[in-house]
Amino acid sequence: MLVIKRFSVGTGDRFGRQGAAQVAAFAKARAAGVEASIVWNKSKREHDLIGSAPSDQRAAASRAIAETGWTGPWHVDADHVGLATVDAFAPHCDFFTLDVADFIGKPAGSAAVEAFVARHAGLSSDSSLPAPLDTDTMRAAAATYLVAVAEAAKTYRRVRELRGGDDFITEVSMDETATPQSPSELAVILVALADEGVPVQTLAPRFTGRFNKGVDYVGNVPAFLKEFEADVRVAMWASKALGLPASLKLSIHSGSDKFSIYRGMGAIVRNEGAGLHLKTAGTTWLEEIVGLAEAGGDGLAMAREVYRAAYESIDVVIAPYASVIDIDKSRLATPDEVDRWDGQAIAAALRHVQSDPRFNSHMRQLVHVGFRVAAKMGDRYLDALDKHRASVSRNVTENLWERHLKPLFVV
Ligand SMILES: [Zn+2]
Repeated sequence: MLVIKRFSVGTGDRFGRQGAAQVAAFAKARAAGVEASIVWNKSKREHDLIGSAPSDQRAAASRAIAETGWTGPWHVDADHVGLATVDAFAPHCDFFTLDVADFIGKPAGSAAVEAFVARHAGLSSDSSLPAPLDTDTMRAAAATYLVAVAEAAKTYRRVRELRGGDDFITEVSMDETATPQSPSELAVILVALADEGVPVQTLAPRFTGRFNKGVDYVGNVPAFLKEFEADVRVAMWASKALGLPASLKLSIHSGSDKFSIYRGMGAIVRNEGAGLHLKTAGTTWLEEIVGLAEAGGDGLAMAREVYRAAYESIDVVIAPYASVIDIDKSRLATPDEVDRWDGQAIAAALRHVQSDPRFNSHMRQLVHVGFRVAAKMGDRYLDALDKHRASVSRNVTENLWERHLKPLFVV
């Protein structure tokens, strides 16, 4: 089994141009004493919207490593794959996020549920378990999650077969569902994964509150941190008590920009001696637009053009992300207004600095999900990125380091 390090961050890189600038942020973390692995994650949905393939992401990652001479660990993540989609990713990835959220709640047979409850009856009186688990809770959780776990196991075995071994990291994700999982349910899920022999190293639950794209956590922060701490303890218990990998840790999806919870999460994992995987994706693309705007000239013109195109096709661009964004159309600046703004004003509206009165979360979310308009521009967009590389890179690195890695991992 390929073992993941204690701390890791999924960066994503929609157009495959920012790998080196992202690695620079991890180098800053290393200089500050924090070793974190960089994981380039990209889902089939992103590939389809952009017109790229898993081999492109692998090539971009390899290029970034060669360019920077990075000696730390790095991985390429087949993000949110299932049995139907995993094959195309298998040769190019060494991290697989098995998304089984759609199988949550599919009824497991009552015989399977009762067998599970009987096999693990001892857990209800196990004082080492950090979350209470009476028989009724176990039965209900088994009924809800056993089919999803079985699907994860099938997909895991498929990846093993395709790769001819277990030289990869397994993540199981259950975050894209309406109902959060309690720490007790998380324990049942991990018990079931251990039963199936899935060496899960990162698990992405659905937490309490909202993890919207590109904006801060929405919800009760102390309640979230209490739940997160309990989940961390359950994961640590599972690796000891169930024979799951010692590297098992939680994964936070839609993890960019969750400024109100980073310090609290960081303190909890350090206190508990636990690991953490933070998965982000779209933020780097936003920094490309910020960097283009700041560059002025034709970079600024490109930033304005992207905004106009996203604004004019708003219903199309937000459709795939409707459940994870919150845009008030009346708060968006019109493209004609934006055409009169200078680069600094556009950068300030999009850059996620909450103390800046010019920051506009509605515009930020629109551009966040609007990357397909840039994909349609093809080489014209990519050439602008190359031409204004210095300004774009500076923003990509600063965002990842100052606003993400530093508050999360550096005390
Ligand atoms: Zn997810």
